[in-house]
Amino acid sequence: MANSSKKKLLWKYLLHLVKIECIEFKNIIEILALDYGSKKFVRLVIKPEKKKIIEDFIEAFDFYYRYAEHFLVDKINNSTMDTFQIKVKSVENENYSIPIYISKNKAIIKKIKHIEENESFSDLEQNIFDYPECCTRNYVLSTEKDKINWIKNLLNNKHNYNRHSFYSNRFSSLASPYLSCHFDFFPCCLSCKKYNKQSQDNFKMLSSYVDKSFINLLKQHLKAIVIEYKEHFWYFSFTRNIIKFEKKMFPIFLLRRRKNYKYFINNIKLDEKFAEVTINDQAINTQLDNLLKVRVFK
Ligand SMILES: [Zn+2]
Repeated sequence: MANSSKKKLLWKYLLHLVKIECIEFKNIIEILALDYGSKKFVRLVIKPEKKKIIEDFIEAFDFYYRYAEHFLVDKINNSTMDTFQIKVKSVENENYSIPIYISKNKAIIKKIKHIEENESFSDLEQNIFDYPECCTRNYVLSTEKDKINWIKNLLNNKHNYNRHSFYSNRFSSLASPYLSCHFDFFPCCLSCKKYNKQSQDNFKMLSSYVDKSFINLLKQHLKAIVIEYKEHFWYFSFTRNIIKFEKKMFPIFLLRRRKNYKYFINNIKLDEKFAEVTINDQAINTQLDNLLKVRVFK
């Protein structure tokens, strides 16, 4: 689809699908990449009542699709907005979701279906998923617990404080307005070069579908400070190195279910080598307290 008015039409249609809660913004990135030619297929998981809406969309833009032969049931819906699901072979049920594979190429859909139904992950070597190999391998080898705690997993390394390019912000789809430029997968680490390059390419691709003001909005959202302290998770826009808040800033969610927020942030100070965060009126430094994790994307 080279025609620029058709590209605008696709973008508008996708935004509409997000608005009616048929897909999420991170799905938009993958579908645009499919149209652009930088992704071979897209796998969506949809509720039965949305089937017709998605089918109409796919047919309007000359993609092909097939449904999986299994359904998915919500297993753990943790407070991180991500739903983890288990496979069931059954008859259609309104509470189940169903995976749908979308591509410009029928043979690819057939291949993906085969991999999913047979769990033949040795086929991953063929890099059919369009995700960096290091990341895919890391995901396949990780335990169920790691998969559920992917936020902790990405934050847990020997450095309590790290700075990254804004392209690497995998957390952007967790905070309002949920914009992102990453594909829907888990990078092996935030400093993964292949993951960063792919998100950067997606960002460039987006500029051929959307206008400048949207690109600026996305960039603003991706430039962020992510903080974790004792299961509390904060997401702030990065504006400057020293931020003093007028009011108590409570987290956007807890990494483990708990009734109430116990901690709030008063201010943040970012330095070359450390970050100092005032939590419940007490200054905590990343060099002195291992429980404080700070990641800056700018
Ligand atoms: Zn990687």
